[in-house]
Amino acid sequence: MKWETVIGLEIHAQLATRSKIFSGSATAYGAEPNTQASLVDLGYPGVLPVLNAEVVRMAVRFGLATGCTIAPRSVFARKNYFYPDLPKGYQISQYELPVVHGGYLEIDLADGGRKRVGITRAHLEEDAGKSLHEDFHGMTGIDLNRAGTPLLEIVSEPDLRSPDEAVAYMRRIHQLVRWLGICDGNMQEGSFRCDANISIRRHGETRLGTRTELKNLNSFRFIERAIRHEVERQIELVEDGGTVVQETRLYDPERDVTRPMRSKEEANDYRYFPDPDLLPVVIEPATVEAIRASLPELPAARRERFVRDYGLPDYDAGVLTASRELAEYYEAAAGAVPPPAAKLVANWVMGELTAALNRDGLDIGSSRVDAPALAGLVARIHDDTISGKIAKEVFEAMWAGEGDADGIIEARGLKQITDAGALEAIVAEVIAAHPGQVAEYRDGKHKLMGFFVGQVMKRTQGKANPGQVNALIKAALE
Ligand code: ADP
Ligand code: MG
Repeated sequence: MKWETVIGLEIHAQLATRSKIFSGSATAYGAEPNTQASLVDLGYPGVLPVLNAEVVRMAVRFGLATGCTIAPRSVFARKNYFYPDLPKGYQISQYELPVVHGGYLEIDLADGGRKRVGITRAHLEEDAGKSLHEDFHGMTGIDLNRAGTPLLEIVSEPDLRSPDEAVAYMRRIHQLVRWLGICDGNMQEGSFRCDANISIRRHGETRLGTRTELKNLNSFRFIERAIRHEVERQIELVEDGGTVVQETRLYDPERDVTRPMRSKEEANDYRYFPDPDLLPVVIEPATVEAIRASLPELPAARRERFVRDYGLPDYDAGVLTASRELAEYYEAAAGAVPPPAAKLVANWVMGELTAALNRDGLDIGSSRVDAPALAGLVARIHDDTISGKIAKEVFEAMWAGEGDADGIIEARGLKQITDAGALEAIVAEVIAAHPGQVAEYRDGKHKLMGFFVGQVMKRTQGKANPGQVNALIKAALE
């Protein structure tokens, strides 16, 4: 434990606009290669980029949600490098004057605490094309559909101290950009990915160590594993007397190793300069205020409100605010039952409902049981019409499209028997039928209570109220 790990993430979130950042080409995923690249995206001479205003609004939404300063004036710059998937020979990005800077986001730590992670800046830029190495027999295909797709690059301070913290932070950003409706967060399609900068230093050391950068990590599991490996590699290297060199490395998930890709460029290698084809971006205070007024309640605030308004444990509130759709669902259902049943609704959403969604590969928006329907079911558990166990049967029937809870309970005759007289009679039958067990119980074998309850449940097809049955049997035996 001599070594402290230091991590900073650069997250690329693809902004969910229909057209590209500087041209009218579509951004839709999955089109035939090179059918969505215009002359602007291809960098033809004589064409000029025109900024898509929506990407600026989206960046401001993000900035406001993370406590960033919104730059009244920001500038697009050319980042020059050569690569086959970059037809212009430069990428339009922002350098000295990014659109937003200086914010933070809070993450949950494993020990239950919280930590603020600094957001250095977030800047707008265009994506490059894609090199296709398969199917070309020793050659490389280039698909320029992605060239010019708008990205928000979110750069963190080197505040993260473990792979787990890095993943927690990345999940929070992922939750937030989806919540704000600025990115679909689809990691398989490359809409959300990150580069991790990693260094180590001795505990107590205040200067940063030399970092390496792991490129294009696009799953939470890979990020965690890739960082863990890189940290181990650096520690071994330094303990064996070596030194870490600043370089870009690639994580190979199949072999579970990182390997060098290229030595890291310095900023001056890119010869950044302001793009003469684009005007500075000026954002008026009134525009910022209008965007602020349009922001939804943010995940952290909603989570706290769930604890306050519905008496939920913080854990439940965290799970139920994982996405805005889930939070809306919960709130619609919880608002439709008596207040003391709000926790029961949470249990059902996190339990049966989530299990059924996962089983059928559905997301909450296409749930087969909607929020009012789930509330209808939970209300019947809460008012003792059915037991929690029978409710599972009712839920499955609802999921299968058989109707609402009341209809199914009625049609299948699932109403709980709470009539004390009827239950007493059944208890008496059970006791009369099992004299041996009754004698053992009276001799002190109180474990047999479960057996008697089971017998009553069997005779009532599970429709008796378990608490009531317990009390009746006890009274009868003692
Ligand atoms: P670039 O990668 O463009 O050269 P920066 O110097 O702005 O950029 O840093 C990018 C990321 O690397 C940031 O998230 C920052 O927090 C992180 N970082 C910088 N230095 C270190 C370091 N020594 N160890 C770990 N992370 C670092
Ligand atoms: Mg970088």
